[in-house]
Amino acid sequence: MINDNDIYKIKDSVDLFLSNENYILAYFMNTRQRKSFRVNKEAVHLLECIDGTRNLAEIKEIMQNRYNIISEYVNNVIKTMENAHIITKINKNHNILSKDELQRYSRQINYFGEFLESEEKGIEAQKNIINSTIIIFGIGAVGGNIAIELAMAGVGKIILYDFDKVEVSDACRHMYFKEEYINANKTVALKKELEKINKNIKVEIIQESMKPETKIENLIKSVDFVVNTMDEPYIGYTAAKISRVCVKYKIAHYIAGGFDAHLASTGELIIPYVTPCVECYAKHFKETLKDWKPKKHPVKNRYREIGGLASMSLFSSSYACIEIIKYIAGLIPMEKNFKVRGEFLFPDMSLTYLNVEKNPNCPVCGGAWKYES
Ligand SMILES: [Zn+2]
Repeated sequence: MINDNDIYKIKDSVDLFLSNENYILAYFMNTRQRKSFRVNKEAVHLLECIDGTRNLAEIKEIMQNRYNIISEYVNNVIKTMENAHIITKINKNHNILSKDELQRYSRQINYFGEFLESEEKGIEAQKNIINSTIIIFGIGAVGGNIAIELAMAGVGKIILYDFDKVEVSDACRHMYFKEEYINANKTVALKKELEKINKNIKVEIIQESMKPETKIENLIKSVDFVVNTMDEPYIGYTAAKISRVCVKYKIAHYIAGGFDAHLASTGELIIPYVTPCVECYAKHFKETLKDWKPKKHPVKNRYREIGGLASMSLFSSSYACIEIIKYIAGLIPMEKNFKVRGEFLFPDMSLTYLNVEKNPNCPVCGGAWKYES
């Protein structure tokens, strides 16, 4: 609905170019999109008036006095430009975020606004992030960096689940590593670092390992999103256990990490009943590897800690966080845009993705959602 008291502005991230006096080209700096419109000089002047200070009534008066242009024409241009995400309505009186939050997240709010209809929707997307509770199982190189990036993005509550202690070999992979943390619990060290980033976020710690008898249902039911990077006893086991519970309660989750087998895995977003679940992935591997028989390795004492660069763990963490933020903020319809697991290949910087699909007969996620809580 267009109201004469409304104030619009050309979005901060949109540049306009005039070509041959006949076309306006809008260039979206954040998404690299271009849109062009045929215009006359009156429309160009109208666009120049949408400066974030004049309300529509004032703009209409200018257009009426100078070009004898009727109110309906102005409304149509406004509607077209708004639908094309070139202009955004300004609402200075909203109370969705505090002044501190608006300042702190101004850059990403501006970015979010590009994918949504208006700046206000960008603010609402930020609010979705602030309102989220996320649990991270396993806070090694990938999980720990995911926690840091989610705290930076503004996730309101983060639960850290790990039993391990900080070792000196973590220095080359963990962003939160500090000399003073050697032998400290990883959860305690990381909590301190997250609270340095943002004192307003809540951080809870659970100092435990994952065993077959470990009960995780109540924990998972209490959060909005689950991240698993827990590679002990091994990632396949923890992922299967966690994904099964998440699918039961229809909670989206992200499986990341697993550096022993994958140089730099992108991990995968799992939206129950939409994307393949961990069980669907397991079936995929079982089928593709069915003719492969493990052969005993001739080297007796193989070097256990197969690793990579800190930059590669950060790549995996950042990839995961981008997908998680898109999902929890509601920026992109991830049901249509999700990616299956991929790998970053170090020598040529390429990304390859698996060819895995959701199994309609999957014992975990096949059929329709049956559980009602
Ligand atoms: Zn499945």
